Amino acid sequence: MEDRFSGKVVLITGGGSGLGRSAAVRVAAEGARLALVDVSEQGLADTAAEVEKAAPGAEVLRITADVSSEEDTRRYVSATVEAYGRIDGFFNNAGIEGKQNLTEDFGSDEFDRVVSINLRGVFLGLKYVLPVMKGQGSGSVVNTASVGGIRGVGNQSGYAAAKHGVVGLTRNSGVEYGQFGVSVKAIAPGAIMTPMVEASLKQIDADNWEKAGEAFVSVNPMKRFGRPEEVGNLVAFLLSEESGFINATVVAIDGGQSEQY
Ligand code: NAD
Repeated sequence: MEDRFSGKVVLITGGGSGLGRSAAVRVAAEGARLALVDVSEQGLADTAAEVEKAAPGAEVLRITADVSSEEDTRRYVSATVEAYGRIDGFFNNAGIEGKQNLTEDFGSDEFDRVVSINLRGVFLGLKYVLPVMKGQGSGSVVNTASVGGIRGVGNQSGYAAAKHGVVGLTRNSGVEYGQFGVSVKAIAPGAIMTPMVEASLKQIDADNWEKAGEAFVSVNPMKRFGRPEEVGNLVAFLLSEESGFINATVVAIDGGQSEQY
């Protein structure tokens, strides 16, 4: 195992499940001190247990917070800085999927709910973490967009608006903060098998969601779902100094699906 995060502090939102958990385990195994944020206390406890298995004795600060709340965001950032004195990597990742529906049936409240967590939450994270990194003269941010943020997927008005917005925020902040030694990137995962995707397949067919999953990936060039560890590996690279000149751009991790005609 490499050791790219020895002595480094990595802050992860949505750290209580899926992609956030996978990234947490990966960077902790390489020496990172972690601050994990989630609305789910249980999720955070489960991630801490996974981290302990992969990296016994790793430091893990658990913060229960809602990323769509400015007060909570201020609190999770200041708790991290109080505990560790700095933030080297920020995986700005928490998000929800929202209900699937045609635009006309999408519902304005649902639109606001999805945008508030998936877009406003990412903006707030940037607003409070970037000044810390600017002060240090270093740092790397990885925002979680989606293939739904670079392509039209359908039935996802709120998610599409939010994730395209995350790509916009990434370009904007990357251009602003590069001069301070800080890079801002986004990832655009395709279908990665996490609890979120399981819930999404259950919206398509509650009883036969595994079959629905097979049909879903049959059009992927690689004919399978991505694994959370594969995303964790990418995020670790993007948070590390190895990727220091990658800035203001989006990296797809989707088996090539977003590139095919
Ligand atoms: P997940 O549901 O397994 O994990 C998301 C975590 O975010 C959960 O622990 C949840 O409690 C937390 N969360 C939700 N709302 C929150 C809030 N308001 N404040 C703090 N925490 C909150 O899902 P995942 O698949 O790991 O998704 C992580 C990110 O990846 C999301 O932004 C999602 O949109 C994105 N994404 C996932 C996929 C995929 O295929 N899994 C594809 C593209 C993008």
